[in-house]
Amino acid sequence: MSKVFKFGGASIKDVESIKNVSEILFSHKNDDLFIIFSAMGKVTNMLEDVLDKYVNHSSETSYLLQKVKDFHYSILDNLFEKEEQIYNDVNNLFVEIEWVLEDDPNENYDYDYDQIVSIGELISTKIMSSYLNKIGFKNIWIDARDIIKTDNTHRFAKVNWSITEKSILSVKSEFPKITQGFIGCTSENFTTTLGREGSDFSAAIIGYCINATEVVIWKDVDGLLNSDPRYFENSELLEEIPFTEAVELAYFGAKVIHPKTIYPLKRKSIPLFVKSFISPNNKGTIIKNDVEITPLIPSYIVKENQILISISDINLSFIVENHLSEIFNVLSELNISVNLMQNSAASFSICIDNNKKRVSKLIKILNESFNVYFNDDLTLFTIRHYDEQAVDLVLKGKKLILEQKSRNTIQIVVKQ
Ligand code: ASP
Ligand code: MG
Repeated sequence: MSKVFKFGGASIKDVESIKNVSEILFSHKNDDLFIIFSAMGKVTNMLEDVLDKYVNHSSETSYLLQKVKDFHYSILDNLFEKEEQIYNDVNNLFVEIEWVLEDDPNENYDYDYDQIVSIGELISTKIMSSYLNKIGFKNIWIDARDIIKTDNTHRFAKVNWSITEKSILSVKSEFPKITQGFIGCTSENFTTTLGREGSDFSAAIIGYCINATEVVIWKDVDGLLNSDPRYFENSELLEEIPFTEAVELAYFGAKVIHPKTIYPLKRKSIPLFVKSFISPNNKGTIIKNDVEITPLIPSYIVKENQILISISDINLSFIVENHLSEIFNVLSELNISVNLMQNSAASFSICIDNNKKRVSKLIKILNESFNVYFNDDLTLFTIRHYDEQAVDLVLKGKKLILEQKSRNTIQIVVKQ
C-alpha cells in the first residue's frame, strides 16, 4: 500500500497550516508514504522576483531575498529553538542563492532560474522533514536531485524515465520519505526544474516509478469542481471521473490537473485523488481508469478576454487548404493556440486569447494576404456534458456570437 502525497504551497504557507498538514500525516502514520512538498506559500513567485532583479542588476535584489529569508525564519522561530540544526540547514541553502547572486548572471537565464528558484522546495522540505521528525513523525529527507533525472532543458526539463525509475527504486527506507516537487537534476549534476506547477508532475513520476497504489494531491478545495466558483454559484464536486475526462477538461482550459501529470498515472492505472487539506476526511475526487463520471452533470469552463478573428480571401474565393496551411503556419510561429475554430465557404474564424502583443502581430501578418475582421471582449464558455438548461444558464443576459457542438461538448462565444 504505497501512497504518494503531494502538498502544494498553500498547504504550508504558515505555522498553522504546517501544523494542519502534520496532523494529516500523523493520521496516515501506518501507510507507506512518499511525501512531496512544493515551496511554502508564494515563495516560488518571490524567488522569481529575486531572479528578475538580479538579472537586471537591480539594487533591490538583496532586499527581495531578505523578504524570502524573513518569511522562512519567522516560521522557523515558531517551530524550533534557535540552536537546532535546521537553522544551519536553511542558512546553507540561502548561501547557495547568495553564491549565485555574487557572480554575473549566466548567459542562460533558465539556468540561473533553476539554481535560484529550486531553493524554495529544498528549504520547505528541510523544514517539514525536521519539524515532523521533531514531533515524532519519523521520516527521511531525500534530495529530489538524486532521484529525478532530467535532460538539461533548464526550466522545462524533460525526465529521463529509465534512470529516474532506477534511482527511485534504489531508495530504501522503513520511514516515510520526504522530497521536493518541481526539481530534478541533469547527468552533470546541475539542478533543473520541471515547469511551474511541476510538483504535481513530480508526484506522478514518483507514483509511476514505485507503482504506488494511489497518488493524492492535497488542495485548498474539496476536489475537482464542475465549475469555477468565481463565475458560478452552486459549483458541485465531481466525485469520480476517468483520466480521459480530466484530460478533456484540462484541454478546454479548466484549471485541473495538468495532462502531463495524468499520463503516467493513466498508463499504470494508478488512481489519483484530489483532496482537501482543510477537510481531509471528505472524500474528494477520484480520477482513474474505467469509471463513469459521477455525478454526470455539466462541467463549465470559462475563458475570458477572447478575440474572434475572421479571415477571408481578398478575392472572396473559397477558403481552402492552402489558405489554412498559411494561417496555421503563422499561428504556430507566433505560438498562438486556438481555442475554437470554425469555417464556412468564404471565411475561417478562430477564437484565441486576446494577448495584445501577439494578436496585433498576427493581424498584421494576416492582413498581408487576407481580409481580416475581429470582434473582441468576448468570453468563451465550454460545457462538457451539456443540456439545454446549462446552455441557457451560460447565455443568460449575453449576446451569442458563435456556437459549436459535438455530442459531449458545446462551445459558446458570447459578448457580455
Ligand atoms: N513551487 C512551484 C510553483 O509554484 C512548483 C509547484 O508548486 O508545483 O510553480
Ligand atoms: Mg505551488
